[in-house]
Amino acid sequence: MLPLVIDTINNNPQLRAQIADERDEEALLADEFPNLHLGTINHCMFDAPVAQRGLAPLLGACQPAKCRNSTITRAHAPYWVAEEDDLTARSKEPGLSPPRREAVFTRLTDVQRITRALEEEGRA
Ligand code: SF4
Repeated sequence: MLPLVIDTINNNPQLRAQIADERDEEALLADEFPNLHLGTINHCMFDAPVAQRGLAPLLGACQPAKCRNSTITRAHAPYWVAEEDDLTARSKEPGLSPPRREAVFTRLTDVQRITRALEEEGRA
């Protein structure tokens, strides 16, 4: 049923959502979701009790593949695919120390969790 509804909306110009301006879109999102932080590789819903969080997401410590607040869209896909390619290449560098190679594989596993999900979604 849902695919039929989405198809109908996408194919009917009067029903299809129109984005007039990206800044308007951001302003509307900011009104509706004041805690939403738009990022380059994911969006953060920053949904946690105020007493348990800071004033803004700690982007340097962000774990997009593991966090329930993380939202990844199709627009983020090229960044994740590029990071997967970089990490795959780095994991094959001959001079890498064993601990560093292990860290690269750990990060690669996280990134592949996202790229595989994006691939699966693309097939659906
Ligand atoms: S880990 Fe990332 S997505 Fe999750 S709350 Fe922190 S900044 Fe937001």
